[in-house]
Amino acid sequence: MSQVRVYAGIDIGATNIKFGLVDREGNVLLKEQRPTLADKGREPLLHLVANIGERLILNAAEEDYEVSWLGIGTPGTVNFRTGQVVGMSPNISGWRGTAIGEFMKERLNMPVWVDNDVNAVALAEHRFGAGIGYDSLVCVTVGTGVGGGLILGGKLWRGGNNAAGEIGHIPIDPSGPVCRCGQRGCLEAFCSSSAMIERCRLKLGHDLTPAFKTVLNGDLEQLSIKKLFAAARKKDETALTVINETAEYLASGLAGVVNLLNPNLVIIGGGVADGGAGFVETVAQNLRRRICDSAADNLRVVKATLGNNAGFIGAGILGEERY
Ligand SMILES: [Zn+2]
Repeated sequence: MSQVRVYAGIDIGATNIKFGLVDREGNVLLKEQRPTLADKGREPLLHLVANIGERLILNAAEEDYEVSWLGIGTPGTVNFRTGQVVGMSPNISGWRGTAIGEFMKERLNMPVWVDNDVNAVALAEHRFGAGIGYDSLVCVTVGTGVGGGLILGGKLWRGGNNAAGEIGHIPIDPSGPVCRCGQRGCLEAFCSSSAMIERCRLKLGHDLTPAFKTVLNGDLEQLSIKKLFAAARKKDETALTVINETAEYLASGLAGVVNLLNPNLVIIGGGVADGGAGFVETVAQNLRRRICDSAADNLRVVKATLGNNAGFIGAGILGEERY
């Protein structure tokens, strides 16, 4: 009996490492997650990822699956050819410069492909999710950070030095708040979950609205992105204002991208998009208002469909020749 060929992928996040096995149709056969423990530094994290990789390959062998390579998605700019993190990765200390690909190939003795985590999400949504059938799409994730991935002409666009798609660092206000990248007024400085929480905190002041009193048990320290969306579902004006402002900021950043690239599809994913409260719909309305008519004509704006699985699914297909 011939073996079933499957993809094996690992998605290194700032909080959790998600990993799994996926069949050729994109069905998840196995998925798990472990805490990243990013504050422990580079070496322990590298060994943890290697252990996870070994276990994934072992699990696949036990099920008689054939795995041709391992794929890894990680925060930061990654040289796709060498598998090294070459640019900023503010959520994992000391990660810049790490030769993940080389280390993993040696440990696992098999081909290993490494790319930026949001590039992997874009690939997964294009192949198996909201982007099926679209050749030109922009994928943006809004959560702890704001990331982007571009599929142009059916292929992932990595740019001249693997740094394409950094939608989060498009400047939208030269005098805006300082971003994690060190610049001022980047999209991420307005739309990340921490920026939303901070704006909400400022608007609330010391007087919690009835909805926030309930969801926070009267304690502002408990404010999180989930609680903010919970208040929005109770029709809290402050929560809805913060979410709508964020949607407007995101639309203004995306307007530049859409006018430049004329994609047919914008996919919005990540924790903030998952919060609901009409966020994606509001981004779509604001975006349509801001872009050229010809760019708006064939444009669809949709929510990502693969959720938390997108990162490891996309990592798993990194070794496909077409990308
Ligand atoms: Zn920035």
